[in-house]
Amino acid sequence: MNKLDHVVGEEKSVDRLYHFIDGARSEGKNERYGYVYNPSTGEETAVCPYATAEEVDVAVEAAEQAFKRWKSTPVAKRVEILFEFKSLLVKATEELAVMIGQENGKTITDAKGEISRAIEAVDFAMNAPHLLKGEHSSDVGGDINAFSIKQPLGVVTCIAPFNFPVMVPVAMSTMALACGNSVILKPSERVPNSALFISELWKKAGLPAGVWSVVNGDKEAVDALITHPNVMAVSFVGSTKVAEAIYEKASRHHKRVAAFGGGKNHMIIMPDADIDFAVTSFIGAAYGAASQRCMALSVAMPVGEKTAKVFVEKLKRRVEELKVGSYDDEEADFGPVITQQAKDQVLKSIEGSLREGAKLCVDGRDPDVGRTTNGYYLGATLLDRVTPDMEIYREEVFGPARIVVHVNSLDEAINLVNEHEYGNGVTIFTQSGPAARKFTEEIEVGMVGVNVPIPIPVGYHNFGGWKRSKFGESHMFGPDTVRFFTKIKTVSERWPESKGNNDVAFDFPSNRN
Ligand code: NAD
Repeated sequence: MNKLDHVVGEEKSVDRLYHFIDGARSEGKNERYGYVYNPSTGEETAVCPYATAEEVDVAVEAAEQAFKRWKSTPVAKRVEILFEFKSLLVKATEELAVMIGQENGKTITDAKGEISRAIEAVDFAMNAPHLLKGEHSSDVGGDINAFSIKQPLGVVTCIAPFNFPVMVPVAMSTMALACGNSVILKPSERVPNSALFISELWKKAGLPAGVWSVVNGDKEAVDALITHPNVMAVSFVGSTKVAEAIYEKASRHHKRVAAFGGGKNHMIIMPDADIDFAVTSFIGAAYGAASQRCMALSVAMPVGEKTAKVFVEKLKRRVEELKVGSYDDEEADFGPVITQQAKDQVLKSIEGSLREGAKLCVDGRDPDVGRTTNGYYLGATLLDRVTPDMEIYREEVFGPARIVVHVNSLDEAINLVNEHEYGNGVTIFTQSGPAARKFTEEIEVGMVGVNVPIPIPVGYHNFGGWKRSKFGESHMFGPDTVRFFTKIKTVSERWPESKGNNDVAFDFPSNRN
């Protein structure tokens, strides 16, 4: 009996999870493990094995073997499997949304929204035959034709966060598969069920064994993956601190790395904005998913005291009406946060800001959830008169505490956003074309909205922040994903009709003759 048998033996009610390696469930050695919780109840629901470096080796070896065949499978055939995966994902939406709710805490409708965004990423990856086309030039000189081809990298790893258990893993990995790579996903240890569920869908869709694997675990598994000599690229999504560490370590091991981190997303409200529209837009984008989105609005920044007064009065009334509840509570606007530790961290941020002089407009610290529960609930909190020197302004708060910072001009707003360490998303609400144009030109942020509260690009545009919201030169979603997951080979080709010229040439080749 290994260590995990012993744990599950004691607690029969929890599921025992596994890795998914070489097309099959793998219990692994189970020397290390962790619990999965239902954030709506605080109950342990599963025990999950954490992979050791040796187990990662096994997964990489299987992925390498599979790559040899997958890379030369015609792209049209690869896309057929993606098509089948998409239809299975569509059919499984209800079941998967419940699973996401149970392990992540987000409401079922929000979970369905995330699945539809995942499907969008699969749709885009089906364009692989077109996107993988290279360039061609005829007769560049001396009867030579030049062309480029995009070849897959090999085994690549995707390391995912807890807040989008399906959308992020699917968005990170599907184009990698379509391009002919083998993928090893390391999902967040908080939400491993969704990743294992997706694995079964890939298998049913006909993806050959080893092309897709899931290795569960924590830092130990991640370190083994990102330093493994046969892993060629690392796509990471998570907090900035970890993104930076992964970028540095994986780069030192000569991997291609794209590491997406956290954000602090501002909404600028100009004096000419439609204030009711701005308030409604802020509410959903700021508090949806208990504010656990990298693109959630964190800061409302009304320009001018008059704008601030009207905006805050209206916003306060709406925030007071928001309801937190269990993932399956149809009346809930959002669910709990992911862990007790996350809840404590948000409470600490609120309390710190109050000590620093912020004004508590709406207090969600002790919400009434209508039943006895050990879930990690926090109601919607709104803090006014936050200033840029306060910690709550500088840090990413991953929970439903949102802030208002007053400014006197658009220039002041732009300067503050540009000085902030994060540069993921930002938006301006205005009816002025010139103000919007100045804003979109001057702002130092990767994803910008104009009267759009969450400016997440659609699946066929590039997604990615600036500054400390992203490390590395690639994007997620969009055409840049193809560049990230392929390497370009340029071929110069000549087929002379007669024997070639046998004169030795020492000059640097010229294309003029
Ligand atoms: P996290 O950084 O704690 O974990 C992300 C992944 O890294 C997990 O798989 C985890 O197991 C692993 N990990 C954690 N600590 C590690 C360490 N020390 N060494 C190696 N691996 C480690 O992030 P999270 O709490 O799961 O997710 C929330 C964060 O992700 C937020 O900051 C959010 O803004 C960010 N996020 C960013 C984007 C984006 O596209 N920019 C999207 C979603 C989430």
